Amino acid sequence: MSGSPILSVRDVQVSFPVGGLTTRSAILGVAGVSFDVHRGETFALVGESGSGKTTLARAINGLQHVSDGSITFDGERIDVLGKSGMKQIRRRMSMMFQDPVGSLSPRMTVGDLVTEPFRIHGTEGRNLRDEANRLLTLVGLPADFASRYPHQLSGGQARRVGVARAIALNPSLIIADEPTAGLDVSVQGEVLNLLNELRERLGLAMVIITHNLHVVHHVADRMAVMYLGRFVETGETEAVFAAPRHPYTAALLSANPEPDPDRAHDRITLPAEVPSLLSRPLGCEFHTRCPWAQSICTTAQPPSGNVACHFPLEPGARPPSKKVPS
Ligand code: SF4
Repeated sequence: MSGSPILSVRDVQVSFPVGGLTTRSAILGVAGVSFDVHRGETFALVGESGSGKTTLARAINGLQHVSDGSITFDGERIDVLGKSGMKQIRRRMSMMFQDPVGSLSPRMTVGDLVTEPFRIHGTEGRNLRDEANRLLTLVGLPADFASRYPHQLSGGQARRVGVARAIALNPSLIIADEPTAGLDVSVQGEVLNLLNELRERLGLAMVIITHNLHVVHHVADRMAVMYLGRFVETGETEAVFAAPRHPYTAALLSANPEPDPDRAHDRITLPAEVPSLLSRPLGCEFHTRCPWAQSICTTAQPPSGNVACHFPLEPGARPPSKKVPS
């Protein structure tokens, strides 16, 4: 992509203190990740729960302290801003939280909910009723929904209200955490189509955080796969889906096959146990679960780059029938 990125994340780390007064230490929830997002582009962060993707999203939005590295938004370094500085940034960078109904205040009407960003950030010269109508129309809800309360909405309608709030101030970037969580499959498609449509119409950039690979394939131009707070594979979504090169990506994709009868869907089964962040494995941190692991993987960190693996997979690679002793 040409031009300056709207969001640039460089070597970001997020650490959390653990232990008591005498055994105090820190674990890395995000262990040094870098990526750019350009205007009009959707970038997906993918991983199992606990992989660090939500922590990273919260760090970008200023809700989580960044221990190292830098985050630049629209040319401005934002990880060093305080609360009031981030309040200004949030006019142009909005966050959609998980749980469509639970994230909406039950005592506010839909009209109040979608126009709340104007009340938080200043309403000069705006007619809030007109704004509510405009926003509800943009997300495909009838104007009379303005008088409803969240408990009167279906999951899909609540998600649309969440989208309306997110676009209210005409942001440049939306960060959406599990935008389809808890929705029926047919409604998931509607919400994803809405996000795609708004991105094109409003020229938005989006960061989507999800464990759902169908969501990624539907909306993302590029993607990063996270494991224990690091990126193990990044690339164009179509290329990664067509030929995953990191064994972890291959395993995730094999567990979520596309509905294509012409493609083989042999599942790559991984040992369920994910290592603790308190005792990260030496070498490649995925070696305790990797069917392709070899001796070097237990001692030497893989090279950094788009695929963090000593032995990137060839297209269609299948796991060895016996795990190589490590
Ligand atoms: Fe598997 Fe080794 Fe690659 Fe890690 S470096 S993903 S253990 S093959």
